[in-house]
Amino acid sequence: MKNHKSIAIDGPAGAGKSTIAKLTAEKLGYIYIDTGAMYRALAVYFLENDTDINNEAAVSEAVKDAVVSIEHIGGEQHVILNGRDVSGLLRTEKVGDAASKTSAYKAVREHLLALQREQAKKADVIMDGRDIGTAILPDADLKIYLDASSEERAKRRLRQLEEKGLPAGDFDDIKRDIEERDYRDIHRAASPLRKADDAVVIDSTHMTVPEVTECIERLMKEKTEASIGD
Ligand code: C5P
Repeated sequence: MKNHKSIAIDGPAGAGKSTIAKLTAEKLGYIYIDTGAMYRALAVYFLENDTDINNEAAVSEAVKDAVVSIEHIGGEQHVILNGRDVSGLLRTEKVGDAASKTSAYKAVREHLLALQREQAKKADVIMDGRDIGTAILPDADLKIYLDASSEERAKRRLRQLEEKGLPAGDFDDIKRDIEERDYRDIHRAASPLRKADDAVVIDSTHMTVPEVTECIERLMKEKTEASIGD
């Protein structure tokens, strides 16, 4: 029997998944689970231990010693790596790039599978990633595939960096990086990024954040009402 409700949000880098998932979770009273942060925590482990991230065998061996767990403190997800809270180390380009490369390896994905599934057994969750609707939570109550053009996603990334006062760099470089990450996510053999057959596609290119969250809330309400009527 399924006790808790779950919403899966998948899509390419920079489509706004985490912003949307966080807001929707707050509104619905669900727990937000950011699976990308778990891949980023493993990337921190590989970088700190000088594991060659281009060598699948070396990464597959190293990952065995990386214990990842998550905690929620004041509604925020914290990622714990071998007993240390690494949440503050996850948002750099270097870590993002290493996560993008190493998340393609089967051993890395299998390492996080149980942790991700367990979260959905504990509470009502909204979980974002690349393979949530297809592999992690195939029975999710609602599946969203959140997309946006790579042009728009690069614009958003640039704006985010500028807002944080970080060196923004060149628009074309950011766009190329996003497209390279898309390519790796879509073309890897292990749980590639793809729309689940029963996912609803939301293209956020010309939508505001409140418009997207309202759309997801409405879809979830429709699902809940439909299941009551069953
Ligand atoms: O979403 P975020 O950029 O934080 O994810 C970091 C990297 O982890 C992504 O580039 C993606 O390749 C990978 N990832 C994944 N599966 C997930 C979540 C993230 O492969 N469920």
